[in-house]
Amino acid sequence: MAGEIDKILWDVAIVGSGFAGALIANELGKGRRRVIIVEAGEGIPPNINKYMSRFYSATAKVPESPYTPEIFGRDRKLIDPATVAAGRPTVVSLGAKNWREPKEAYLIQTGPRPFGSTYDRVAGGTSHWLGTCLRFAPNDFKMKSQYGRFVDWPIKYKDLNVWYEEAEKELGVSADVDEQRYCDIEFSPGYNYQMPKIPNSTTDQYVNESLNKDPLTEVETGFLGMGKPVTKIPVRGVPAARNSAPYRNRRACAGNTNCIPICPIQAKYDPTITLNDARNTGSVTFKERSVAYDIVVGANDLVTEIKYKRYETETGKETERGSIKAKVFVIAANTIETPRLLLMSTNGGRTPRGVANRSDMVGRNLMDHPYYVVWGLSPKKIYPYRGPLITSGIGDLCDGPFRRERAAFRVDIGNEGWNFVVGGDPNVTTLDFVNGLNKSGVNAPLERRDSRLGDEELFGKQLIDRLNEKFTRQFRCGFLIEQTPDRDNRVTLSSDHKDGLGLPRPQISYNLSDYTRRGFVAAHRMKKLLFRKMGLDDFTKIDNDDPTRFEEEIDGERVALNYTGAGHIMGTCRMGDDPKQSVVDKFQRSHDHKNLYLVGSSTFPTGATANPTLTLAALSLQTARHILDTDFRR
Ligand SMILES: Cc1cc2nc3c(=O)[nH]c(=O)nc-3n(C[C@H](O)[C@H](O)[C@H](O)COP(=O)(O)OP(=O)(O)OC[C@H]3O[C@@H](n4cnc5c(N)ncnc54)[C@H](O)[C@@H]3O)c2cc1C
Ligand code: SF4
Repeated sequence: MAGEIDKILWDVAIVGSGFAGALIANELGKGRRRVIIVEAGEGIPPNINKYMSRFYSATAKVPESPYTPEIFGRDRKLIDPATVAAGRPTVVSLGAKNWREPKEAYLIQTGPRPFGSTYDRVAGGTSHWLGTCLRFAPNDFKMKSQYGRFVDWPIKYKDLNVWYEEAEKELGVSADVDEQRYCDIEFSPGYNYQMPKIPNSTTDQYVNESLNKDPLTEVETGFLGMGKPVTKIPVRGVPAARNSAPYRNRRACAGNTNCIPICPIQAKYDPTITLNDARNTGSVTFKERSVAYDIVVGANDLVTEIKYKRYETETGKETERGSIKAKVFVIAANTIETPRLLLMSTNGGRTPRGVANRSDMVGRNLMDHPYYVVWGLSPKKIYPYRGPLITSGIGDLCDGPFRRERAAFRVDIGNEGWNFVVGGDPNVTTLDFVNGLNKSGVNAPLERRDSRLGDEELFGKQLIDRLNEKFTRQFRCGFLIEQTPDRDNRVTLSSDHKDGLGLPRPQISYNLSDYTRRGFVAAHRMKKLLFRKMGLDDFTKIDNDDPTRFEEEIDGERVALNYTGAGHIMGTCRMGDDPKQSVVDKFQRSHDHKNLYLVGSSTFPTGATANPTLTLAALSLQTARHILDTDFRR
């Protein structure tokens, strides 16, 4: 079969079957183009049970645990990425002791700070996403002309609006259109989301009541720098690709807070859905366990073929090599693997800096939304552990004149209690009160909160009462901080470390700029305001050996801050009008090679604060239309 596939001249070859790859394949398949997808990960199992059973039996319930490749070996140690054919970063390899350890962490990190985000290798991309489907705000596309910072996108909100609508239709979004009109976000007349919004949780309601019971004063909110008095900070529902009612043969959300890493009933959209539709067009062929490693450029700077290595599941060993020939090539391999593939492709020295890289911009401007997470106990019962992980947030503070000086932030309100922050509640707190321990910090008074031993060791009714009293009051929220595009935040190739197929692993250098850190400072002040208004007892803890920890002087106090990765990986193949300063044009087409497209959030020139996937989906649909409308005859 491999031989047959390699003999065909395909209309379009796509590398990667995540959101971007699946959406484009489906559109091209509907347009009767002959498409092949080359995917590094395993094929999609016939149903979700295979993922579910891997998740149930996983000792570490991390975002990657339902999916391949395996994280731990039979010896229960982390598998050495040098032996894995298609590796990935995982949450368990981002700790103080191993984020720079190449035998445990797939990404080779040179620092100075840890890059904290992960991605997946299962066909269909990151099924472990949460489903949040925010649009970027109009000013997010024009940071240079509006605020004198960074660069403008070559595309405006109004150009993308129609593609946002198409993307929302494909993913199926639950939201209230009127509630989503803020920060100048507008919709076409009469437009509505596909399903009604998911109701606000009881936690969301308490945050809103507490913040807005009385009008806020200038003294309280002046630090925000919004350019106008802020008397109210609304809590708004977050649009989500999660069914609030049956949609396209999938059920409505049952509200059991497991969206990351997997929705057992597929109420949450994931790209396997579009991928199946694509294959059902009859025009799309899928080749799993096939890692693209070389993009071959021929005459007239056109790409002629992409070479791949295939491996077997059990051993991860290479079983075959091949080459796909096509008229058009689309690289949809995500923000780290796309530049890696481009940089590996030097064409015997004819593209010495890699393919599509005359500008030397490939791999640069790596961004995330560093996520500052805080938690506490509420004075009132707010009943977490129900509903999707996030139903609401604070978005109105994402844009304003302050962006001349500091990064913006968006606030996510969690519905999962302390599950994420203490390493697996409700289990951790329960074990604390059963065994007289204090990992959660709640089994000891304030002055001994850091001690490992707890005060109480309970069972029976006393235990149940104590747990009910604690669990019903757990609160956590997070601040997604806008990150500046910085040339030296960068993906390159490791010269020392290879993967199981002998290919160089991605090397990352990463830091936070002063502008981004000033965004953290504002977020910390917002945390103080929020916690005071809610009357929360603050349990936020930042370990001394946390590699993401840093300190800032805030209002006369030395404050420790930290971050995790949000999984919102952007930059590295910047979009722009100027071929000297960017890698692709507004259709995500390479400036250097007219039959090569690089798609996904790698093309974002700036990162804003909204989760990236809806925007990358909108851009992908625009790219698919552009491919369908372009004559690629040579
Ligand atoms: C925990 C978590 C939660 C998230 N939640 C949200 C959210 O709520 N909202 C949101 O907007 N975003 C969210 N994201 C981000 C979202 O998952 C990404 O934006 C999205 O997956 C990117 O899609 P993509 O198609 O560009 O890449 P991916 O989904 O990463 O797909 C790329 C595919 O390419 C394949 N590939 C890579 N290299 C090769 C190669 N050389 N050859 C062949 N195939 C290759 C990979 O195996 C993979 O299948 C979250 C991320 C994480 C980690
Ligand atoms: S809350 Fe449960 S049913 Fe709803 S989307 Fe999340 S995992 Fe699926």
